Amino acid sequence: MTTHTPHFHTLRSVRPPAALQLLVPALLLVCACRPPQPEPLRLQWLTMGTVAAVQCADHGAAPQARDIAQSAFDALDSELSAWKGDSAMSAVNRAAGTGQSVAVSPAFAGVLRKALDICRESDGAFNPLIGPVMRAWGFNGAEPRPAVPGDGELKAAAALCDWRHVQVTPSADGGAAVALPARGMLLDLGAIAKGYAVDVAWERLRAAGHTNLLIDLGGNLRVMGEAAPGRGGWRTGVRNPFEENALVGLFLLRDGEAVATSGNYERFVEINGIRHAHIMDARTGTPVTGMAGTTVIAPNAMLADALSTTLFVLGPEKGLALLRNHPGCEALWIPDDPTHFTLFATSGLAKRLTPIGKAPYTLKVLTP
Ligand code: ADP
Ligand code: MG
Repeated sequence: MTTHTPHFHTLRSVRPPAALQLLVPALLLVCACRPPQPEPLRLQWLTMGTVAAVQCADHGAAPQARDIAQSAFDALDSELSAWKGDSAMSAVNRAAGTGQSVAVSPAFAGVLRKALDICRESDGAFNPLIGPVMRAWGFNGAEPRPAVPGDGELKAAAALCDWRHVQVTPSADGGAAVALPARGMLLDLGAIAKGYAVDVAWERLRAAGHTNLLIDLGGNLRVMGEAAPGRGGWRTGVRNPFEENALVGLFLLRDGEAVATSGNYERFVEINGIRHAHIMDARTGTPVTGMAGTTVIAPNAMLADALSTTLFVLGPEKGLALLRNHPGCEALWIPDDPTHFTLFATSGLAKRLTPIGKAPYTLKVLTP
């Protein structure tokens, strides 16, 4: 048997058979004329005090996807809203300190348990009893404050955030009986409920046969499939907290992944001309300062949501330690210092980040 070595230089000059000669230009023509891949269709609307959206690669699937997502959001809002007087959440808060417990659904119990887990794990940096502190600063429907609350008021509000004695007793239907031990205590699941709502919508959409879409509820995103054939996922941007409508970079979210961002630039109260942002340190009763934004990629939206708030409070060093317990999660921190614009990123996120234009920041990769 003989082996023969191909001679590429001669092969290249070999003319293809006649039939191929016709086919090649025809194929090129087909490629050249094929319209560019259509971009996904985005439908957006207002709900839960924020903007919700679905993006669908299959445009025809978008209206149904929106309806499914919206009904999932509505159902949870009527239970978990701290604003609606008839929500289960309001009932729990009204019963605080009365010795009465309130029966809540399996969904509510699940979110609360997860919130308390992350609270314990972060030693209270994430605190679902943050309500009294939020109100002290004029958030959550409280009267706007003419002046910054005094030390005494903040100490009292912080004392009501003691999460150690919240009672969550499992009930037969998979829900729970919930009791807050002291009058004035207030549950606030604002840092985790939107993520959970996105997961519920995601599961329902998948069960209904949807395949390639993105769900967004106020910056809590979760994706399925890809934006167009061959893209491998959905390209997502990280916002520049110091410049409106600007991004610092892009990364690809893969099938099933979620991302959430917490920032100091979107929700705040202004007292005597000074802005106070809405993420609080329950230990001091004051807004967290020093951080402009955090972004977390996670295997589901509830975890991404809760961790983005937790890591905002903890900062990169302590945050990195907490992330060790959460495989599949990656994070990025932007300290509130525009003159030394720095991004701290876990190595996994740094690898996935594509800067936009001439990156105006220094990227510091955190080693685990
Ligand atoms: P957004 O709700 O704007 O997406 P976050 O997910 O970071 O942002 O949640 C912020 C909300 O979480 C606040 O508006 C408040 O309801 C609640 N919150 C504030 N501080 C804390 C905290 N330390 N732990 C848990 N929840 C908090
Ligand atoms: Mg959050």
